[in-house]
Amino acid sequence: MQSLNLKEKLNQTTDFLIGVELVSTRGTMSEKRAIQAKEFSKELTYQPQIDWVSITDNAGGNPMLSPEALGTPILYAGQDVMIHLSCKDLNRHGLESRAWSLASHGFQNILALSGDYPIQDIGGMPKPVFDLDSIGLLAMLERMNQGLEIQSHNFKRRQLLPTTFYLGAVTTNFKYDEQSVAPQYLKLQQKIKYGAQFIINQIGYDARKMHEQIAYLHQKNLQHIPLLGNVFALNPNVARLFHSQRIPGVVVSNDLLDLCKKQAQSPDKGKQFFLELAAKQLSIYKGLEYRGAYLGGVHTYKDVETILKTAKTYSSTDWKTFVHELNFSRKGEFYSYAKNHNTGLSNPSTPNSIPASIHLPLKQKFLYKFSKAAHQWAFVKGTKLARLAQWWCKRYRFSRGLRLAERMSKSLLFQCKDCGDCSLSEIAYLCPESQCAKNQRNGPCGGSRDLLCEVTQTECIWSRAYVRLKSENRENNLLNHVPVLQNQALRGTSSWVNIWLEKDHTSQK
Ligand code: SF4
Repeated sequence: MQSLNLKEKLNQTTDFLIGVELVSTRGTMSEKRAIQAKEFSKELTYQPQIDWVSITDNAGGNPMLSPEALGTPILYAGQDVMIHLSCKDLNRHGLESRAWSLASHGFQNILALSGDYPIQDIGGMPKPVFDLDSIGLLAMLERMNQGLEIQSHNFKRRQLLPTTFYLGAVTTNFKYDEQSVAPQYLKLQQKIKYGAQFIINQIGYDARKMHEQIAYLHQKNLQHIPLLGNVFALNPNVARLFHSQRIPGVVVSNDLLDLCKKQAQSPDKGKQFFLELAAKQLSIYKGLEYRGAYLGGVHTYKDVETILKTAKTYSSTDWKTFVHELNFSRKGEFYSYAKNHNTGLSNPSTPNSIPASIHLPLKQKFLYKFSKAAHQWAFVKGTKLARLAQWWCKRYRFSRGLRLAERMSKSLLFQCKDCGDCSLSEIAYLCPESQCAKNQRNGPCGGSRDLLCEVTQTECIWSRAYVRLKSENRENNLLNHVPVLQNQALRGTSSWVNIWLEKDHTSQK
């Protein structure tokens, strides 16, 4: 009988699945690290207890060997492979082209990511792309799955053959503040709405947050979406790195770091402890009814085997005890639900939103209210002024004086960069082009560190937007819009005219 693929296993069985992360390396396949990765992948290929191998795409913002180079031999040997596809280095054409190539080689499982910001390299900093974000990418791949409709050179429309990608996304759920956590969950819903069929969470060591994520999906009637829990085997050096928050979105608390440092003093430098911790983490995910575990931080099959064997020695209820061990939160951390003090997990029947005590500073409040009123008055379809402006723009040209007024007012109030396809109304009147390093138009990426952007160290615009909406009790509407795929052809043109003449993304509403 032919074995089931990852999608079939997740949809047709109740098995707890195991995937292992393979980090791509820099250099050719002849480099020592690539040879080690290849050896590791060979071991993973023939193990019946491994359900898939996941291969990273330029992780940490580094240029790496393409995941397909490592993945093709694994795939052709019969093992399921998940390819990570990030938006940092390719625009939508590059991503589409890469997706066709993946489909043609037989890769089905794609993990769609916004991607890490590029790091300094040859000659300085490379130009980050971020033409799409993870939601834009999911929406594009989903359209490919439906059969992408394109326009041929003779202007006739035709439909391409549908792809059969099994699409997944990541959620960064171990954040600290409400305005970082809540937008991640809102984005999770959008990811599912626009194509994600499975979800993997970010690295974290807090059982209550692990539970919170699955409770959230249940609350939103999304329990049919398989959740795969991130199990990362630490070591003292990696723990230090994670603690310093140099890996965006990954959290190791002070208490956990202290424990790691203590374990590093042992003769095996804590190796056994860390593998056991990973086995406990895996058991918790299994106990919480996640559909599988995504194992990272392991580089030999021996370590994978140790984790899996250790996990098998636990009884079906041991995980409940481990919950009290794996509770490395930070003091004052926000949770979406109250704590169940008996279990140490969440109490999903008691949502835990901080009361709307958020008061915007006066200047911010005035700018927000003024921008909102002006938008509703002049740019919302069907209003008198919008209709008049539309009529005027169709009949006459937009005057130079008005264009100047637009440029001056928007650059002064919003640091507008004149992209022509304006997202202000969707981000509580904060400009993604000038204030978001990755120009995220469909929700926050996972990279902020304690509210601050991983790149600019300024407060994330999505956290600020959440606070603005929360001051009006509308925070749950933060991402209520169709995926924005920015139209680069509008750059340098009037965003006002583009709204009135329905040339920009808002006309897709
Ligand atoms: S037009 Fe573009 S650059 Fe200008 S405020 Fe809007 S989103 Fe920002």
